[in-house]
Amino acid sequence: MRHVTVLGATGSIGLSTLDVIARHPDRFRVFALTACRQVDSMLELCRRHRPRYAVMADPEAAARLHQQVPAAWQVEVLSGPEGLVAVAEADDCDTVMAAIVGAAGLESTLAAVRAGKRVLLANKEALVMSGALFMDAVAESGAELLPIDSEHNAIFQCLPSHQVRNFPGAGVRRVLLTASGGPFRETPADALVDVSPEQACAHPNWSMGQKISVDSASLMNKGLELIEACWLFNTRPSQIEVHVHPESIIHSMVEYVDGSVLAQLGSPDMRTPIANGLGWPERIDAGVAPLDLFALGRFHFERPDLQRFPCLRLAAEAFESGGTAPAVLNAANEEAVAAFLRREIRFTDIPVVIESVLSSLPAVAADSFSVIFEKDHESRAFAAEQIRRRAVSVSGLK
Ligand code: NAD
Ligand code: MG
Repeated sequence: MRHVTVLGATGSIGLSTLDVIARHPDRFRVFALTACRQVDSMLELCRRHRPRYAVMADPEAAARLHQQVPAAWQVEVLSGPEGLVAVAEADDCDTVMAAIVGAAGLESTLAAVRAGKRVLLANKEALVMSGALFMDAVAESGAELLPIDSEHNAIFQCLPSHQVRNFPGAGVRRVLLTASGGPFRETPADALVDVSPEQACAHPNWSMGQKISVDSASLMNKGLELIEACWLFNTRPSQIEVHVHPESIIHSMVEYVDGSVLAQLGSPDMRTPIANGLGWPERIDAGVAPLDLFALGRFHFERPDLQRFPCLRLAAEAFESGGTAPAVLNAANEEAVAAFLRREIRFTDIPVVIESVLSSLPAVAADSFSVIFEKDHESRAFAAEQIRRRAVSVSGLK
């Protein structure tokens, strides 16, 4: 029996995780659930899953949840970042789904890693920010890090399990990282200036949280995934080639020196990689409909357009700059995406904000988590300034 903490339980990945868990009452018990402010959703999840702990990152939301949870459910309500860390590292939990969105998830994900848990990593931003330090912590604690991002889970499944971080030993030539291309794959450059948050969040194949949906539309998601793949599989961007594959059925591929290319295919449903991580090394039912290749008929591939979608280039450059550059990139992107969702800046301002923040904050060695957090804060302050300047021009044009 695995005892699971779901960090970010009310989100898209959190709910899919709980759906898979509920299919296997003989294998999994929910130890703790966490969320930020969504009291109603959390109350419903507590009713259904009866965790030992429910954590609200927001203290006011925690107080409201505490008032509403019936004592008979025996759910203890905790709050704040300390609450998140406590349930991530608790002795009575062995498996942690890291599905908080953004840098807000780093501390609790790291706590799970340091406590040597099986960590199912959806929160790619945590790894992008702190790459080498994060992977060092995994090696030191012996945590079992399993990739949940569909592409990385696909790559993981296409590699020999004892050599996922040893491409030369495994005979890997390169990784073919697939991308859907997002909702604006065919949108002309001049029309991107006017796209709305609703259009950006209407992903053609996947249903996801708002932030990752905008990242998918800008191709920053693929940029973050490129960095994520480099850390998870101990490789370089030069060994990874992004292939836009609009059907989102092939979730990524690994090419070997003998010319073999192994691919993992499946319906675009995150319950597949989640079930893979929860059950690994066994296969468990995920509730996902079987793939109907006859109905699909054809697959298409194209190169990403870095002119229209500069975020992918910015991410690759940040990884090459090294040190704190990916943390700066990630924080500037989070701020720019939030401002776009608030309609303060245009979609096309997102890469402009990020690039100007990156050039204002040259990379320094990322030799401690405190340096990473410091750069994250600095980057957000610089981004806020850039957003203010651009917001004036947007409102002037309205
Ligand atoms: P979401 O917005 O649907 O859910 C985010 C969750 O994080 C919610 O439970 C929310 O309460 C919690 N949260 C938000 N801010 C918080 C804070 N400050 N402190 C504590 N908790 C906070 O997001 P999602 O789409 O489920 O994505 C979660 C993570 O998984 C992201 O890192 C994303 O990149 C990654 N991911 C998602 C998908 C997908 O299909 N949705 C696929 C691959 C990777
Ligand atoms: Mg992905």
